[in-house]
Amino acid sequence: MDASASCLIQNYARLPVTFTRGEGVWLWDDEGRRYLDAAAGIAVCNLGHAHPAVTEALCRQARLVTHTSNLYRIEAQEKLAVELARISGLEAAFFCNSGAEANEAAIKIARLAARANGNEQPLIAVAQGAFHGRTLGAWSATDPLGEHPYTPPPRAPGFIPIPFGDIGALEKAADETPGLCAVMLEPIQGENGVRIPAEGTLRAVRELCDKRGLLLILDEVQTGLCRTGAWYCFEHERITPDLLTTAKALGNGVPIGACLTRRETAKHLAPGAHGSTFGGNPLACATALAVVDTMEKEKLHEQAARTGEYLLDGLRRALAAVSSVADIRGRGLLIGIELDRPCKFLAQTALEHELLINVTVEQVIRLAPPLILDQAQADLLIERLAATIQTFEKDS
Ligand code: PLP
Repeated sequence: MDASASCLIQNYARLPVTFTRGEGVWLWDDEGRRYLDAAAGIAVCNLGHAHPAVTEALCRQARLVTHTSNLYRIEAQEKLAVELARISGLEAAFFCNSGAEANEAAIKIARLAARANGNEQPLIAVAQGAFHGRTLGAWSATDPLGEHPYTPPPRAPGFIPIPFGDIGALEKAADETPGLCAVMLEPIQGENGVRIPAEGTLRAVRELCDKRGLLLILDEVQTGLCRTGAWYCFEHERITPDLLTTAKALGNGVPIGACLTRRETAKHLAPGAHGSTFGGNPLACATALAVVDTMEKEKLHEQAARTGEYLLDGLRRALAAVSSVADIRGRGLLIGIELDRPCKFLAQTALEHELLINVTVEQVIRLAPPLILDQAQADLLIERLAATIQTFEKDS
């Protein structure tokens, strides 16, 4: 159907392709063409498409019971909370359906904790260029200076912008901002073009938060669940946040998100203070349990680290002579290739080369393939991406 005739609200600029089947790192369109998926549904299908263990858990649970609501105990939810506590080092989980909702929960917990300490005007420091989701609270923490055309108002108050990775600016804000109660950050800014802070930054933020009595909220919606070569990106700096949000890959495509924290902080969410009808239902939690179990069995964080290094190295060699490439950076299998010019249409050009990529902030190609990608597939990805950029250069 022609987009203008569609009954959908036109809030997405969708590419003209429809996928009907997936397996591993591959997706097939409705004409039978096979594409190498280097986007994984925006860092969601970390185990690849139609992973047998995930499909089996999903079908098994669907045959038993899909939904009961949080009026009752949910065994799979309790088990999943234990698993996430084990892999994150935190203690208590609230389940919801998306990354934005997980961030809403974290923001609310931080504000409630501040109020309990007599802080009636709690403020949260957030990074310039941040992306935390599209619900009102998460949106207000997103791109707090409103620099990008795709993040228009309205915004709720309560967030103050700090340059990403600037410890001095954060320290100054902590000195000068009465009511500051928390710092909220992505360890790597994904939507902002895979921006990686200097080594030691997260550790310095952790130390500052400890000194000033601020809660550290880490949004690992995109970086979590093995994507950067560790269960969570904060492990690279041997710290633990006070609040952690995780979603995307948790259900490998089945909607689920979680906010994790310590018991001491979790006590601020009394019954009725927060909730979700669907959040943590049996179907989503049984699937997520299979996801975590499979990631662990397949040592997926190690594979992501290994293949990530291989891919980064290969890209640097293959694209060294490509004049429009300005920078190549990444950690694990979250990789950004910055061009010297806007390249929004590159994702469409890549379709001609049977490759799925995504472009963020106008001129950064983001690669976030399934973490099961092997070296031969990584070689193919490099080959198809180089061909895509060359086609783009010729045409631009
Ligand atoms: N936080 C980060 C870091 C993200 O990258 C995203 C989505 O891209 C979100 C939050 C929002 O997640 P969702 O789209 O599941 O609400």
